[in-house]
Amino acid sequence: MSHLMNTYGRLPVAFSHGEGSWLFDVSGKRYLDALSGIAVSTLGHNHPRLVRAISEQASRVIHTSNLYQIPLQEALSDKLAERSGMDEVFFCNSGCEANEAAIKLARLYGHKRGITEPVIVVMEQSFHGRTLATLSATGNKKVQLGFGPLVDGFLRVPFDDLAAVERVLDGRADVVGILLEPVQGEGGIHIAQQAYLGALRKLCDDRELLLMFDEVQCGVGRTGKWFGHQHAEVKPDVMSLAKGLGSGVPIGACLAAGRAAGVFQPGNHGSTFGGNPLACAAALTTLEVLDEEGLLANAERIGQSIRDGLAKALDGVPGVLDIRGAGLMIGVELDRPCGVLVGQALEAGYLINVTADKVVRLLPSLNFSEREAAALVEGLAPLIKGFLAAQ
Ligand SMILES: *Cc1c(COP(=O)(O)O)cnc(C)c1O
Repeated sequence: MSHLMNTYGRLPVAFSHGEGSWLFDVSGKRYLDALSGIAVSTLGHNHPRLVRAISEQASRVIHTSNLYQIPLQEALSDKLAERSGMDEVFFCNSGCEANEAAIKLARLYGHKRGITEPVIVVMEQSFHGRTLATLSATGNKKVQLGFGPLVDGFLRVPFDDLAAVERVLDGRADVVGILLEPVQGEGGIHIAQQAYLGALRKLCDDRELLLMFDEVQCGVGRTGKWFGHQHAEVKPDVMSLAKGLGSGVPIGACLAAGRAAGVFQPGNHGSTFGGNPLACAAALTTLEVLDEEGLLANAERIGQSIRDGLAKALDGVPGVLDIRGAGLMIGVELDRPCGVLVGQALEAGYLINVTADKVVRLLPSLNFSEREAAALVEGLAPLIKGFLAAQ
């Protein structure tokens, strides 16, 4: 019995420590971590470079304040700008905060152009967070239930459907932007087609709207490129990051470019903790290690190998509808709700997740090895087969 507020149905396990792709529970049993704390532990557990960087930074200074200059924050903004081609970065502490910044930026952009009630187009099955504005933008009734009145100013369309966006824009002058995940995570690993993203870019350019990508889950190397949208070579005006950016140390970012740059001025937005020296040291080290250890290519290669392995092992198994993904963002869609697989996998020593009721989701660390990939397929495929056969 504890005094925790009852916001999570937690699995019956607590971990004492980790090593690479493995977590150990308090009794010493080990688990292959194919979830990374939901796309967070980019470098796996206890990466020596990250541990050293955080320890050294903690021994110097952890927090100062955005009232002062923070050289590590400036350095991190440069590294993110280099990799994304974006112009400006605002730092915060989580994905919903990064999206809050994006939504506020788009509204202010509208107000500056005389649009007093700005509207943002958002997608079905999307997930943008749990604050009031971001749950209002989210395309999942369960997330919104009981929290009305929702924040106004969002128009929802089906994902990956250009005609639907064109229809909703027709005759409206109050839309200021389009917000979407290039790869939907919580919604079940749905990948936007490259041509769709390109067409949205053109729509936004023609109408001077902001194209806003929520890359909180698919960003920072997870799909095999620095950012998910880079597969389509379509650059957004606004992008949000968080989850994997600090390899477990909380940090989020909202990036802006072109017509979205320069919108925020002092007094418009802020964050007490955002981009503090400790978090920036973790993020800078994450980016460095991703580069030096070639982990973008690894994500691409190991992701392919897991998908191929599962496709082979589950070939012809009735009930397996699709095996899809980009890099190390992988979904196995079944024909029925399969939440019980999470507990069965845990028993067997594998950490996985099920999202959108029917999609087994895998988000291993970006330094997952070929051997670990093989072990994951070997452990998971029989569980899925057994589950489908028993129903
Ligand atoms: C997890 C997630 C968020 C919310 O991030 P928090 O850090 O939990 O606030 C927002 N958008 C996407 C795409 C996510 O996957």
